[in-house]
Amino acid sequence: MTTLLRIENLEVEFATDRGVVKAVNGVSLHIGSGETVGLVGESGAGKSVLGRSIMQLVSHPGRICAGSIYWNGEDILRRSDSKMRELRSDAIAMVFQDPMTALNPLKKIKDQLVEAVLLHRDVSGAQARDIVLKRLRDVELPQPEVTMENYPHQLSGGMRQRVVIALALVNDPQLVIADEPTTSLDVTIQAQILKLLKDLQRENDLSIIMITHNMAVVAETCSRVNVMYAGRIVESSDTAALFERPAHPYTRALLGSVIRLDDDVRRLNTIPGLMPDLIDVPTGCAFHPRCPEAFSPCDRVQPALLEMAESRLAACHLAEAHGGAD
Ligand code: SF4
Repeated sequence: MTTLLRIENLEVEFATDRGVVKAVNGVSLHIGSGETVGLVGESGAGKSVLGRSIMQLVSHPGRICAGSIYWNGEDILRRSDSKMRELRSDAIAMVFQDPMTALNPLKKIKDQLVEAVLLHRDVSGAQARDIVLKRLRDVELPQPEVTMENYPHQLSGGMRQRVVIALALVNDPQLVIADEPTTSLDVTIQAQILKLLKDLQRENDLSIIMITHNMAVVAETCSRVNVMYAGRIVESSDTAALFERPAHPYTRALLGSVIRLDDDVRRLNTIPGLMPDLIDVPTGCAFHPRCPEAFSPCDRVQPALLEMAESRLAACHLAEAHGGAD
């Protein structure tokens, strides 16, 4: 599989009145063409900032302060703003949790999508409309010819998210960064949207970075997964192995809080304690105040992200001592 995107030792920080927030702290990962890779963790883990960093859409006062992001071998952190804009429109697209972030409430769906096509492709208005209509059919929007004449507020949440996915795909990107794409939707619509993304990925040979707090979404969609905690990757593995034998206590805790997508009754065992304040991250392993398995070096020595088995990495003294996953 060809590597499409490779991130090396990325650091992103935000200067605030209280101090510097290290939102992403030395993260490395890669994604191959046609692959779906999960980025999972609780709110505040740094997943969304990492996703926005790839697009170079980190807003002030945030800044990428170290590391590299290679796209097809080119370090795109060296690109000019205009060259980066080209990449954002042609090759990498983003789907946000809240469709209203991506859609203009004052414009009809048709006008927004046609505009996106005309801005980046050398086609006539009629051809752009055909491209849009095809994409709206691809995302299974009901009665696309009629629905495209509506404004975003006239659509349901699920229909709006389908439109946002169509907008992301309208210029045939190679990579989609999907940031909690189903979180605001009810369980049935969530399952439909995830299936749709999987189908579209297969049909279009897309790569997807799936940012989520929900392990059930990971299980449903991802072949590999990176678990983030306090700005760092703490475990990286293929999905089946991670669910079978999680190496990191935080991953085990996340798995204990899984909500199955088909559950009628939502069961949620929350992880005790809170994600640390990223201005004042605990010494040693950042998870140690919440870790039921913490022992003597954990509050003093930060564990390195080490290979536990083939293609399996974990940052945990316990996993290291046991020589691999549990
Ligand atoms: Fe728990 Fe220690 Fe492993 Fe951190 S390093 S996850 S505190 S056992």
